[in-house]
Amino acid sequence: MSGESPYESIDFIREWVRDDNEAATYDGRVQTRFPPEPNGYLHIGHAKSIFLNFRLAEENDGVCLLRFDDTNPETEDTSYVEAIQEDLAWLGVESSGPPRYASDYFEQLYTWAESLIERGLAYVDDQDAETISTQRGGFGQPGVESPHRDRSPEENLGLFRQMRDGAFDDGSKALRAKIDMQADNMWLRDPVMYRIRRVPHHRTEDQWVLYPTYDWAHGQSDAIEGVTHSICTLEFADHRPLYDWFLDHLDLPSDQPRQAEFARLNLTHTVLSKRMLRSLVESGHVDSWDDPRMPTIRGLRRRGYPPSAIEAFVERIGVAKTNSTVEIELLESFVRTELNQTALRRMAVVKPLKLTITNWPQDTVVMLDAINNPEDPEAGTRQVAFSGELWIEQDDFRLEPPPKYYRLTPGREVRLRSAFFVTATDAVLDDDGNVIEVLATYDPETQGGSAPDGRKVKSTLHWVSAPHAVDATVHLYERLFEAEHPGAAGDDGEARDPRDDLHPASRETHQAKVEAALADVAVGEVVQFERLGYFAADLDDSRVFHRTVGLRDEWANIQKRKKS
Ligand code: ATP
Ligand code: MG
Repeated sequence: MSGESPYESIDFIREWVRDDNEAATYDGRVQTRFPPEPNGYLHIGHAKSIFLNFRLAEENDGVCLLRFDDTNPETEDTSYVEAIQEDLAWLGVESSGPPRYASDYFEQLYTWAESLIERGLAYVDDQDAETISTQRGGFGQPGVESPHRDRSPEENLGLFRQMRDGAFDDGSKALRAKIDMQADNMWLRDPVMYRIRRVPHHRTEDQWVLYPTYDWAHGQSDAIEGVTHSICTLEFADHRPLYDWFLDHLDLPSDQPRQAEFARLNLTHTVLSKRMLRSLVESGHVDSWDDPRMPTIRGLRRRGYPPSAIEAFVERIGVAKTNSTVEIELLESFVRTELNQTALRRMAVVKPLKLTITNWPQDTVVMLDAINNPEDPEAGTRQVAFSGELWIEQDDFRLEPPPKYYRLTPGREVRLRSAFFVTATDAVLDDDGNVIEVLATYDPETQGGSAPDGRKVKSTLHWVSAPHAVDATVHLYERLFEAEHPGAAGDDGEARDPRDDLHPASRETHQAKVEAALADVAVGEVVQFERLGYFAADLDDSRVFHRTVGLRDEWANIQKRKKS
């Protein structure tokens, strides 16, 4: 697939690639990769990187591979490998070939490490990780050279082979690149390339006791695959000189890849760190990684977010060189815009209150036409049963209405959507004074929702016929984090634990009464409950609904507030 970039203005990454193509740097070849570590599930931040890498390759008739960056056996697992592939497929992107694994390159990496040792560019250090880290120094602080820095290549080679053979304890030796302990860039101060860790790997099992660091594995994996443009997030900008140093000193099978960095996605009211997301699951704050309140791809999917809306959002925010935080309302507005076009309208009463029509002919049911989607004439109409016993929302009736309350109250006439005008006459109370039933009369002349005499009503309510209603469980959600910037420093300047900013009641569950057509909804389908929002039928149980987004465009309100 190729063609024009869908992006209105070309971003700096696309400019970089275009310049390379014009200069024939890689003979016009474009190859990118998406390199997740299989230690958790993908989240919406990853989606930004995914669409950037895959679409960039497509736009240039290039290649984009999925590569698992599986160099940390402690935290990684095959289950994440599978889940990540499912999530990519759901987002609508496809690796240009079978997924690759950094672990497939362990042997090549080892060979290259020996070649650096032979040329005096790497050495075995007997110091522990903590000592090595302290000796690195800091900005304006000198680095301290290891006492083992000047071992001969022969001695280093011997020790390195023994490391591989398991002769030494975990953590007792490390292989380090010999670069410059006084470099201004900390990453060039003799970075660690290998650590000894007797941890079984999910793919190589117990074949290795040496594991490469991210910096030693990443650029080399890029080179092995033939990547041209290696795109990562800003925190790796400082690693770039090291990325280049390793590649400059190796005999590469293909052109030398280059790295560029873009700003990661941050969203208000959201945390996007796998570590923090894991802690929410482990502490029981959410049910699982695919809880609809989670910003994971699986969570958003269960919540009813269409993948195309996620992509449209990612396109809109673009790619920048400085970090910023995007309002979550913008993402929601893309979801709402899309669902407005596609979701069928249905009626559902989330907090049911009985409404009895006292002048309704006994045992009579009429079938009324209701429009499935006013935005999509092809969606047609459906028939909805109407009877003398209905469910309406508790919030749509008040015995003593507050000012400006235009819904149902004794003596007031309102429209029931697609049905009749009704006037409340009385209410039945329980012993505690709560309204448990509303009595009303209907006007048979108003079938379809308008009066022949042209009289108007101030509100239209949704409803469900009680004998025809289907029971369903409906989850309403608040933001998972109440704070706009979870964990942001307080007045004292101290960073705080984002978990202190969790919403105390982010989920509210109701036993709802929904119209009969919803008995046939497919798992995962999103419909609009009239007046209430968009709701996704759960992926495992179509009698459970999750509110995807409400109907009000909060993004538009934010824009208005910013202008004024
Ligand atoms: P986290 O910080 O959430 O644990 P990570 O960066 O450790 O994420 P990886 O699996 O290493 O997760 O990420 C795979 C790719 O996704 C990397 O190239 C990374 O730069 C990119 N990525 C991760 N988070 C974001 C984000 N918030 N915005 C854009 N890209 C991201
Ligand atoms: Mg990472």
